[in-house]
Amino acid sequence: MGYLANLLFIRIWILPVLIIQILFAQNKVLNSTNKESKKMKRSDSEWKRILSSAEYHILREKGTERAFTGEYDGHFEEGTYVCAGCGNKIFESEKKYRSGCGWPAFYNAIPESVEEHEDISFGMKRIEITCSKCDGHLGHVFNDGPEPTGLRYCINSVSMDFNSEKEN
Ligand code: FE
Repeated sequence: MGYLANLLFIRIWILPVLIIQILFAQNKVLNSTNKESKKMKRSDSEWKRILSSAEYHILREKGTERAFTGEYDGHFEEGTYVCAGCGNKIFESEKKYRSGCGWPAFYNAIPESVEEHEDISFGMKRIEITCSKCDGHLGHVFNDGPEPTGLRYCINSVSMDFNSEKEN
């Protein structure tokens, strides 16, 4: 009797547990496809047509503008910086600071607006920052920034446009 009762108990529980596991797995797949479908997908020739040659080089070919030459390096007006490729809002002027590194620097990004990728090019180990909407290359993030994050988002001016309108 005890054995049968145990068997029945296990049978009753196994099915719901399996169903829950399947639902979780499905949800994971749906979430990741959702994230992908929200991305802006353009062909290389479309990007070439839409972007200037400097923008194309930096955003799509992961180039870097020369230090101390960028439009926004010494730019400290109030407003929002958006991705030059897709208009995604990526940085706010309140998080911008004078790092002296030669590129616009921020200690934080707008939540969910950028993605991080390990970058081992040029014999260095760095963290590349891309736009979460169009995957355009923006710059890198380093651990030598000011409080409260200790981060320095070092971003190409060419990768950004500036919008002086205040966000709500
Ligand atoms: Fe973008």
